Amino acid sequence: MTLVSPEARRDSTTWVTSTPHLQPAGPGGRMPWGTRHARVNTEPWTACGLPAATWKVFWHLPFETTGAQACRGCVDEVLRVRVEGRARG
Ligand SMILES: [Zn+2]
Repeated sequence: MTLVSPEARRDSTTWVTSTPHLQPAGPGGRMPWGTRHARVNTEPWTACGLPAATWKVFWHLPFETTGAQACRGCVDEVLRVRVEGRARG
């Protein structure tokens, strides 16, 4: 399921990390808890289509497609959009 509009996708080159919960406060500051999803800051949905309007957004953490905790659906979508952007030139 994809709910990100084509317009947003075309302009979205920066995916940030987002999760429903924060880790308990630690020395590293605000860090994601559990599976990490990708989202564009202007969209209330994750790349994999989950409603994420109330989720935490980690502006300082670009979504890493190679991360062990990365959501597979988000990884697939981010990689697909990158390929499409390249093809579009
Ligand atoms: Zn996801």
